[in-house]
Amino acid sequence: MPVPIPNVDPDKLADVRKRYAEEANKRLRPEGLAQFQPLKDANDERLRALSDDPWADHDALNAKPSPIDNNATYKFFVLGAGFGGLVYAVRLIESGLATANEIRLADAAGGFGGTWYWNRYPGLHCDLESYIYLPLLEETGYVPTQKYVAGYEIREHAERVARHWKLTNKALFRTDVKTAEWNDQTELWTVKFTEKRGPSAAPRDYVIRAQYVYLAAGVLTRPQVPKIPELLSFKGPTFHTARWDYKVSGGSQKDQSLTGFRGKKVAIIGTAATAIGAIPEIAKYAEELYVFQRTPAYVKPRNQRTTTPADWNNVIATKKGWQAERVANWNRHLTNSVRPGERNLVADGWTDQPAYSAILGSPSHGVIGASPENIEKHVTNFHAYDLPNMETIRANIERIVKDPDTAEKLKPWYPSWCKRPTFSDIYLPLFNEPHVHLIDTNGQGVNRATEKGLVVGDTEYPVDIIIFSTGFQAPAARLGSPAARTGVKVTGRKGIDLDEKWVSKGAATLHGYATSEFPNLFFSGTAQATITGNNIWMLSLIAEHVAYWISEAERRVGPGKRAIVEVTKEGEEAHTAEVVKRAPFFAAIAGCTPGYFNAYGEAAAITDPAEKAKRARGSTWSEGALSFLDYLQKWRDEGSLKGLKVTAAK
Ligand code: FAD
Ligand code: NDP
Repeated sequence: MPVPIPNVDPDKLADVRKRYAEEANKRLRPEGLAQFQPLKDANDERLRALSDDPWADHDALNAKPSPIDNNATYKFFVLGAGFGGLVYAVRLIESGLATANEIRLADAAGGFGGTWYWNRYPGLHCDLESYIYLPLLEETGYVPTQKYVAGYEIREHAERVARHWKLTNKALFRTDVKTAEWNDQTELWTVKFTEKRGPSAAPRDYVIRAQYVYLAAGVLTRPQVPKIPELLSFKGPTFHTARWDYKVSGGSQKDQSLTGFRGKKVAIIGTAATAIGAIPEIAKYAEELYVFQRTPAYVKPRNQRTTTPADWNNVIATKKGWQAERVANWNRHLTNSVRPGERNLVADGWTDQPAYSAILGSPSHGVIGASPENIEKHVTNFHAYDLPNMETIRANIERIVKDPDTAEKLKPWYPSWCKRPTFSDIYLPLFNEPHVHLIDTNGQGVNRATEKGLVVGDTEYPVDIIIFSTGFQAPAARLGSPAARTGVKVTGRKGIDLDEKWVSKGAATLHGYATSEFPNLFFSGTAQATITGNNIWMLSLIAEHVAYWISEAERRVGPGKRAIVEVTKEGEEAHTAEVVKRAPFFAAIAGCTPGYFNAYGEAAAITDPAEKAKRARGSTWSEGALSFLDYLQKWRDEGSLKGLKVTAAK
């Protein structure tokens, strides 16, 4: 049942929308995604080095026997040992498809956790409730210490999951997977990768074969910096938040005493989710802190709480299956589809913004017809839903930040669905402190760097240290190709290249997780699937569905035979048609301020109908995650594995 559309003053709404459009246009850049440089691909060694792994314990890892035998054949190979790879491996084990020993994982990181391995900046917390974000709490018996736990606790949970399912010694770390190629003769995948063993040991090359390959490479894995002119002329230390340099800042992930910033002028570029967490911690130590802002984040109250035994036992974990029920309840609030009388169990800043479903999808609005009138009505309704929320956010800034000019600059002028919300009770008040300086760039970004600092307009800001909080290569790069996200050259039947298939044709999948000509290859992602806001829940849904495909395939070929499961062309086109039919729902994203959600405005600038149609194929399911699950369930109930072909290996 949708929340009724609030009765907002139409003139006010029109004014606000005009302002949103002006602010978005001001920020559009012709270079789109190309305004950024992913660090790993940089020509310059100094920039490239900023993406090196600061955390791997090479001596300890080198002392262990390798978990992967060169030239061996494994049943399951998983690229990525973040939560995506882990929940998939757990699902395989739990559904009886594999023992831990039949699974191998590989990751460029030096340990488990993915995002939570790489990102260790001070102030990092889960941005949604840990009770629904951390997976497998019932199975592991773990109780998160806080409603929004810190980054290291999430990483430790990844390690716990690996231990619990005996996967600790099944993962090869510090390993870049390079190629995966289907071999029609062996009817197996051949995967090649290199283990980097640190400065004192030679790298090791591996070639293995696998029956099934899963690409769980995540989406926010490639840190980037903007191509700021003369960036490399700056002489002082610089680093990216995704590879926080505690040698410069002092402290550690667990002891966030950033004493290295004492007496220093520190600059941070970026004011989105990462920066909102890190800035308050830097401000505690830096002599002067310069916050370079291009677009203000929208900041909602955090309301952190410690988990008490009473809350946990009597309110949260009250019965078997509580976590699944809680996450579904949260999702209904987020997708504007709350059941009559349904309580809001999580009751946080995610669940009070029905307009956020403009990006997640919602079952409450039906399939939106593609006529301009339908779309305009739909987008106007969402702006009406959103206005009270965004007005409250802007009013809070005025209430908290004393200097009216600074408060004005901190106000977000875009609808809530254009960016992931941020949560903090300590970020905004910082701008009342004399040593914290907001350097607003009026949507244009930093002009250039110098030997001594950064320039905005005509003013140079001399600083000692520059920190980049400028995000990650956008998942939409190369139309969201699953191969491009991994950096792996994936070759299917007839030598077809996965990346080229995507770029020439657009997304083409069954249910988002596999594509024709690539047998026994599966991938995580949102295109042609669902986006939930809670990424680990989404990864668990994918794992469950892919495991279902495999178990049905194995059941159908019978014991003792190797199953090959592949998507048919008709299957992927039929599913694509269902997705594309629903794509007009997402029209509100087109007008967003540039960001990684809308490929920095690239998509809206496309006028060629063929190119537009190609992009529409990469849309997500417009009716929200629970509706998508219903769609998958109906597909399963139909019983014929429509769109999949199952054969036994010769
Ligand atoms: P990742 O965790 O990114 O893991 C993928 C792994 O694949 C990486 O370790 C990478 O090294 C490896 N990999 C990629 N390519 C290769 C290759 N070619 N060879 C070898 N290894 C490779 N989501 C939320 O829902 N709530 C949050 O609070 C939240 N906070 C976040 C905070 C930060 C700072 C960031 C960046 C993201 C956050 N996210 C959050 C999103 C988060 O990425 C997901 O929640 C989730 O952890 C993703 O898991 P994953 O396994 O899919 O990907
Ligand atoms: P983002 O891509 O969201 O933000 C990058 C920031 O850099 C933006 O403020 C951007 O401004 C700014 N920027 C880019 N180019 C320039 C420039 N030339 N000059 C000045 N500023 C510039 O990255 P984040 O790392 O903050 O977050 C990425 C995602 O990771 C989040 O959306 C969220 O999903 C997840 N996350 C979750 C967290 C949590 O609390 N658990 C914490 C951190 C991240 P502009 O907006 O104008 O582009």
